[in-house]
Amino acid sequence: MSGDRREARLDRLRAALGERELDALIVSHLPNVRYLTGFTGTSALVVVGERELVLYSDFRYREQAAEEVGSLARVEIVERELWAKAIRTLSEMRRVVAVGYEAETLSAAAERRLAENGNGIEARPTTDLVEALRSQKDAEEIASIAEAARLACEALQAALETVRVGQRELDVAATLEHELRVRGSEWHPFPTIVASGPRSALPHAGTTERIVESGDWLLLDFGAQVDGYCADVTRTVVVGRAADERQRSMYELVREAQGRAVQHVRAGMTGRDADALARSIIEARGFGDQFGHSLGHGLGLEVHEGPSLGRANEKEIPADAVVTVEPGIYLPGWGGVRIEDDVHVTADGATLLSDGDTELRELV
Ligand code: ZN
Ligand code: ZN
Repeated sequence: MSGDRREARLDRLRAALGERELDALIVSHLPNVRYLTGFTGTSALVVVGERELVLYSDFRYREQAAEEVGSLARVEIVERELWAKAIRTLSEMRRVVAVGYEAETLSAAAERRLAENGNGIEARPTTDLVEALRSQKDAEEIASIAEAARLACEALQAALETVRVGQRELDVAATLEHELRVRGSEWHPFPTIVASGPRSALPHAGTTERIVESGDWLLLDFGAQVDGYCADVTRTVVVGRAADERQRSMYELVREAQGRAVQHVRAGMTGRDADALARSIIEARGFGDQFGHSLGHGLGLEVHEGPSLGRANEKEIPADAVVTVEPGIYLPGWGGVRIEDDVHVTADGATLLSDGDTELRELV
């Protein structure tokens, strides 16, 4: 990671702290730590002051922290009690009257320690400070997500070639995960979903020993990760024979809704209005109650981040957000269809990062 990007991010964060009259921020959410400093380990606290930047980690990361953070920040390796050390540092810094902390991820115990810092520093909860910066991607971040999405779609094509009636969902998942890893996915950013037959009606199904039968839906929802950035793709196919009439009409409805949202979503639209692009079509056909989740979510260092494309989000989608577009219809006992692609959103519209290959596929 180049120093310039991190410096620019820190400048924007310090401006946001200034607007909230905070003299410092303690960053504890690890994706935020990574975004600001480049450190990828699992143990870290960062103190961002007006000029100071200190990263605390433990012995396991002595070399890695020095290498990843470089000269950007002072790195302190602490035997234990990262919090105690961070609080002491705050008290040693000049002019710290109010410090922010990340309320969404801080434990109640750490919150109490911070409140009882003994130095008269006011500790204030904050939300979405770093997350707001992260919701607008730079060109390098978009390129990483695009690469993750590209390899995810390639892995799927390879895995679908091998799917047969009689395999277990777990067998399909094993092949897909293998194809993802050999193409360079660093990790599966969430547990792979392979749900067959009526199990496809569970929007967040696990993957089981169920055997895939002829005529089953097979729903695959899976991720890839490149440079820490996530892609998230869902395809629903029919196995063993051609789709029946009901399967085809349900699929085409979801596909129409998904295609319309991909075509019309743009920056400046509220999350609610983006969601309505697809939802209005599904509601008009009487399946509104069977589409019980949001249209999509932001993608980045986390597989679920801002902005949300959902009914509860009245905020505008920022330019250069990367989001999923994933309507679904779920009929208990029969099955479900979800189609999910990843797009880069600008004021002019959306550009697909995944392959957008959503035509109904019948594996016969
Ligand atoms: Zn997904
Ligand atoms: Zn998703």
